Amino acid sequence: MADAPITQDVLTIPRKLPEGPINLVGLTRVQLREVLIAHGTPEKQAKMRVGQIWQWIYQWGVRDFDVMTNLSKAYRAELAERFVIEVPEVVSKQVSVDGTRKWLVRIAGGHEVEVVFIPEEDRGTLCVSSQVGCTLTCSFCHTGTQKLVRNLTSAEIVGQVMMARDDLDEWPVPGAPKDETRLLSNIVLMGMGEPLYNFENVRDAMKICMDEEGIQLSRRRITLSTSGVVPEIERTANEIGCQLAVSFHATTDEVRNKLVPINKRWNIEALLEALKAYPRGRNSERITFEYVMLDGVNDTDADAHRLVKLLEGIPAKVNLIPFNEWPGVPYKRSSNNRIRAFANIIYNAGYASPIRTPRGEDILAACGQLKSATERARKSRKEIAAEAGLG
Ligand code: SAH
Ligand code: SF4
Repeated sequence: MADAPITQDVLTIPRKLPEGPINLVGLTRVQLREVLIAHGTPEKQAKMRVGQIWQWIYQWGVRDFDVMTNLSKAYRAELAERFVIEVPEVVSKQVSVDGTRKWLVRIAGGHEVEVVFIPEEDRGTLCVSSQVGCTLTCSFCHTGTQKLVRNLTSAEIVGQVMMARDDLDEWPVPGAPKDETRLLSNIVLMGMGEPLYNFENVRDAMKICMDEEGIQLSRRRITLSTSGVVPEIERTANEIGCQLAVSFHATTDEVRNKLVPINKRWNIEALLEALKAYPRGRNSERITFEYVMLDGVNDTDADAHRLVKLLEGIPAKVNLIPFNEWPGVPYKRSSNNRIRAFANIIYNAGYASPIRTPRGEDILAACGQLKSATERARKSRKEIAAEAGLG
């Protein structure tokens, strides 16, 4: 098989559509200031106005300028003429027997992406998408079979979080005592797409989620998962500062080339070097190595021992993901006994090795099962098998 080109040349629609009002969601504070000034807000007032509007949008979840009572009526009317506060539109919502929620949301251009909320005892995690589809073609991943791709704007990324807070009904009410218990307490960039191939938009959106006067999630509660876009890993540390997860999935380049084809561009050695340089935080800030358990492909004792060797010198934990099957995929989930044996080897070497419980399987919300139903171009089973090197 000829190597499929690995590309990040995907389209991001411009923030400012020439026609119609401008969406204020997703703008950084600096951009918001510029936009307000360009539309007539006096420069002297701009800083204060940014602060006020920002709080209404991100702290209180307000979508209507008329509710912004600390702004004059005339100014509110001016804002309403020029701007909108818009988040992706919910097309459908499914709730799993285990409480997991999955939304299909529509974004500009008629594209659709999926967003998943996973409630647990001590936290609630929102799994956010960063692209429509994915340009990468990991052979075990459903999203990777979707050809139609575009980058999400920062508005569409932070908008998923705002949409979820709408649906969970957890925007605070101004003046009410601060509620420390949050349904939506964590974000993982583990939905559709490779977040590091949409760096700026992901960064701006996550900065908004971390902002003290807005959604207020700590950087420790945000985890970005990458398949291994090595040059962007250092930037992630410097410009976002969130937790990092890596889709590792194999212990030799030969196998990883087949499972995670970006390995042909940046191999295991290059990836580990970048991870070693990722700033060491406290023990709680270890890098998560995601490892999907594929029967007979990457799940032997020898793999586990090799993995332990590769982890040397990296503050790491290993998250074992039982493979979630989808129609046409040429892989099977490893048996529970195999997964446990693999986990034990890693655990005995001193690394946490939790086995991820699949959530929301009944609504196809589990890892790697996301894919837009409206997607037009589907790869054939033959293509999938060929790319997995099994054809
Ligand atoms: N594109 C990013 C983030 C999204 S995927 C990345 O690849 O890291 C989130 C995790 O689910 C990744 O580790 C991915 O490899 C894994 N995954 C993909 N398909 C899966 C499947 N069918 N079963 C289990 N995990 C899967
Ligand atoms: Fe893309 Fe991640 Fe799926 Fe690979 S695993 S195809 S990088 S979404």
